[in-house]
Amino acid sequence: MLKVHSRCDLACDHCYVYEHADQSWRGQPMIMASSTVVAAAQRIAEHAVAHGLHAVHVVLHGGEPLLLGFDGLDQVIRRLRSIVDPVVPLRLSLQTNGIGLTPAICDLFVRERVGVGVSLDGDRAANDRHRRFRNGGSSYDRVRAALRLLRRPEFRAAYAGILCTIDVRNDPIDVYEAVRAEEPPRIEFLLPHATWDNPPPRPDGSATPYADWLLRIHRRWTDDGRPVPIRILDSLESTARGGPSHTEALGLDPVDVLVVESDGAWEQADSLKIAYHGAAATARTVFTHSVDETLGHPGLAARLTGLDALCAQCRSCPVVARCGGGLFAHRYRTGTGFANPSVFCADLKELMESTSMPPSPGEPPTAAIPADVIEEIATGHVSVATVDLLDQLQAELVEALLEELADTFAPVGDEHPWAALVRMSGDDPRTVREILGHPYVRVWADRCLRRQADPRLLGNLAAAAAIRTGRPATVQVVSAGGYVRLPAVAAVAVPGPAGLLPLTVGEAGTVSIAGRPLEPAAWSPVRHADTGAWSPALDDVDAHRDCFEWPVLPRLDEAAHRRWTSTLTAAYRIVADEAAGHLPGLTAGLRVITPLQPGADGSPRAATAREAYPAIGLAYAGPAEMAVLMVHEFQHVKLGALADHVDLYDPGFQARFRVGWRPDPRPVEGVLHGAYAHLAVAELWRSRPGEPAREKYLHYRDWTAEAAETLLASGALTGSGERFVRRLAQTLNSPAP
Ligand code: SF4
Ligand code: SF4
Repeated sequence: MLKVHSRCDLACDHCYVYEHADQSWRGQPMIMASSTVVAAAQRIAEHAVAHGLHAVHVVLHGGEPLLLGFDGLDQVIRRLRSIVDPVVPLRLSLQTNGIGLTPAICDLFVRERVGVGVSLDGDRAANDRHRRFRNGGSSYDRVRAALRLLRRPEFRAAYAGILCTIDVRNDPIDVYEAVRAEEPPRIEFLLPHATWDNPPPRPDGSATPYADWLLRIHRRWTDDGRPVPIRILDSLESTARGGPSHTEALGLDPVDVLVVESDGAWEQADSLKIAYHGAAATARTVFTHSVDETLGHPGLAARLTGLDALCAQCRSCPVVARCGGGLFAHRYRTGTGFANPSVFCADLKELMESTSMPPSPGEPPTAAIPADVIEEIATGHVSVATVDLLDQLQAELVEALLEELADTFAPVGDEHPWAALVRMSGDDPRTVREILGHPYVRVWADRCLRRQADPRLLGNLAAAAAIRTGRPATVQVVSAGGYVRLPAVAAVAVPGPAGLLPLTVGEAGTVSIAGRPLEPAAWSPVRHADTGAWSPALDDVDAHRDCFEWPVLPRLDEAAHRRWTSTLTAAYRIVADEAAGHLPGLTAGLRVITPLQPGADGSPRAATAREAYPAIGLAYAGPAEMAVLMVHEFQHVKLGALADHVDLYDPGFQARFRVGWRPDPRPVEGVLHGAYAHLAVAELWRSRPGEPAREKYLHYRDWTAEAAETLLASGALTGSGERFVRRLAQTLNSPAP
């Protein structure tokens, strides 16, 4: 988080920068100097290289970053991009009060792929409680004007969401409706900042007003069909299923945010400013200390240790895995420091208990995917929490396969790659799980078990994990065809015959193969198509990406990679406009795209492979076509993942059925997959104007409806399958959003 401008044009009375214990802003330069921006960017790039990061997220923050004006913002963005982008994809966003937003700045943000989050506390009355100008005037109309700008089709790609601070005196449903009316792609509700020294207001004397307030929104949001991602609610649902929290306000995930103040000082999370003067300070700067050196600061180091960093009461709490003691700053009390439960403890406990997941009626309690989630998947509109659940179940499946595979060969060298993976997973489970969850890992593992691939590639997987986690390791990796391929990370050119070579990741994150340090020119990283809100890997280097029914393309050159990125950006915007309900699931779930060779006649090509969750293969096409293909194929991905864990039909059922979209009769699986994919395609065509689009919509709608009827009459469906298809048909017939 870069504090590029340390003053603000508003004077909100709940602001943690100016209105709480820490007053260090008074000594900060107003504007971050260009030399500080450059030094911060160099530290970020250095850290990304050392740890083999696949993306870095920088938030331009303040005070109020828009006070930099167009030229100032343009310069900061260019400096950051010129230093960080060549090394690692840079995701840029900006958090603002919106007052200074102009069409020219929006244009800059769209061009430079900067996602904009705007603060708005609800309707006029709610917003006016706190968010005022220094003279007491309301900021409401100016903020809404900014949101109108961001909703304009040409600027919509820059609209990242709304951040809303809770005041329990405001009616939660009025706030929810007011914020939703601004059509944000994401909403974040924040608890007001408070500590045990300055507890949060509890105006009606209730012990849990903040939980009650959020739970009313949760009920309404669920009844509305979860029309927009709401971070804290998605997080509650994800943690209820054992998934990650995606927010530092909940859960035990290590904190991964550092702040650079406008004078170049490294600081801990901003929210600590509410505790005491200097609470966020680290006495380190971007000029003197690297990120790793800064992480050695005791306050930061403690926050990377999860459960161990909590007080005894939290450690023994039954919901600690989900709550994690709440936001670090909210635990502060003079005398005991941060060794306390959250000042919102009662609210957090109530939130956890009220959103725990009892088994649905009729479903065995051990079902991997509850009945209500099966129905949610049937609509095609899946939440981030559901993607998290599918990810987790896939990860368990892949880990079981790998464990089986590890027994099939004896290691060369000191440490078996499986043992290395288990060791690294103990230190950094999330990163190792990300590597193991790369789609082509399961493809390779499946091939190994059929004796069609080399199981010693487990060493390459351990090497990829060591590079990403920065944990020292030496493993034997397979070199073949002139490359050492490291799943999810890179292909490294290594001339010479095929065979095993030792790859070493050193203490400082240095990488060498067969004793020789890695040459940058030999390194072809897995690149991401950074579209702003969504950043899928464009994997054109994995050895096992050839699992689709069409041939894959070789490595894209830089120009082709840029062309893909800009077309995917446009396609993503089309999905946002035409099938917004698919966006949360697609953004969270569609993480890997492999470029396919186009058909000889230029006909569209896209494909999925059941084992390659959650990847799709895609041939280059225009944005409108790509939007349809992405949504279509991602339906297959979700259904495949569901079918890995839930029997939807009797696999022994032999009959085949006529469908509208193919001349040949199809098995039950084909009818089900086709109906589900065409449900989403129909939704896209329904949104497009003009008679040709309407005709297309009617085709897809009728095919889907007929296929659903066929399935329901087939006698092949299980109880879960029938529930799925009934919900699918219901979705098809629901009115246009
Ligand atoms: S807009 Fe943000 S930085 Fe400015 S006073 Fe309000 S809360 Fe503080
Ligand atoms: S609910 Fe309270 S005691 Fe339990 S982990 Fe959260 S803050 Fe700690």
